[in-house]
Amino acid sequence: MIPTLKKRILVAGGAGFLGTNLCVALLKEGHEVTVLDNFFKGRRANLDHLEDFGDLQVLEQDVADPINIHVDEIYNLTSGGLPSEQPDISAPAFFNRATGVNNLITLAHRNRARVIQLSNDQIFTSGAVQRHAANDFDDVDTFNVDIRTARIFNAYGPFMPALDGRVVSNFIVQALLNRPLTIYGDGSQIRSFCYVDDLVSGLRALMEAPQNIVGPVDLGSSRDCPVFELAQKIIALVGSSSTVVFHTLSEKDWSRRPDVERAKQLLGWEPSIALEEGLLRTITYFEGVLHRNTAFAVALANNRFSFSRQNSGAGETAR
Ligand code: UDP
Repeated sequence: MIPTLKKRILVAGGAGFLGTNLCVALLKEGHEVTVLDNFFKGRRANLDHLEDFGDLQVLEQDVADPINIHVDEIYNLTSGGLPSEQPDISAPAFFNRATGVNNLITLAHRNRARVIQLSNDQIFTSGAVQRHAANDFDDVDTFNVDIRTARIFNAYGPFMPALDGRVVSNFIVQALLNRPLTIYGDGSQIRSFCYVDDLVSGLRALMEAPQNIVGPVDLGSSRDCPVFELAQKIIALVGSSSTVVFHTLSEKDWSRRPDVERAKQLLGWEPSIALEEGLLRTITYFEGVLHRNTAFAVALANNRFSFSRQNSGAGETAR
């Protein structure tokens, strides 16, 4: 697809799961894409095939280091999306993120570029199924930069790390290896899973929306899915002989769902890929990962890696 206007787009954190999928979409649209990543969580291998799609530059540096390039749009994907038990809120990590945001806003100001800042559902701070009204938040008016905030809810799909402890990747990998699926609690907690292609089209719609958009926009699915149901679905779709095993649930693990109406109203956006279809595509992706790296698959099957959230991507380099 040839865009009406070729843009220079910076994707900070572009080598991670969301970033890689976003970059593919942007390159296919014909834009000039620069990935900024320190390859701490993001994986260089994710970017390997991306140059085939178009004009890609990769800058290996931390978002907290100064940057001076020409850009029209900036996506900051560096500060959201950690599994819920391990957000790094230490002072250095917080400072690093804040400095990164400041750098990108400064860059946007210099270039008159628009920014999408990623947030996620972990900002919710108390129990029960929650929705936040958008007007809980003040207008962001920093140096007159147009900053739009996307709050993402349980995105899944190709390029998810196999072992960062997220439920979809855990269950699929466990099911493919015929190992028990680890359900935390009784599995009645609700999530709404959004296939990454839908998420990416939501981010694009948010960036390109002509009107001023104030406050965070939730990007996620309206389909409630208890974790137990997800486990059953994945076992069935894989055709696995896995059973399920129940582990302790963190007391902070409350049900969450997005306010999908705001994105519908403002952007005309809603997810279009059914959970079963998205899961099948993700299963195919992980089958490929395990097939390409038998050493990793054997290590997983032999219990050499844990699927816990503390794991934070161990073994990913083995892929
Ligand atoms: N979960 C689970 N088993 C796992 C990993 C996660 O039951 O192996 C549950 C987890 O307790 C939570 C839900 O799945 O209720 C989603 O967890 P995830 O870390 O994927 O996302 P988040 O908690 O950030 O929404």
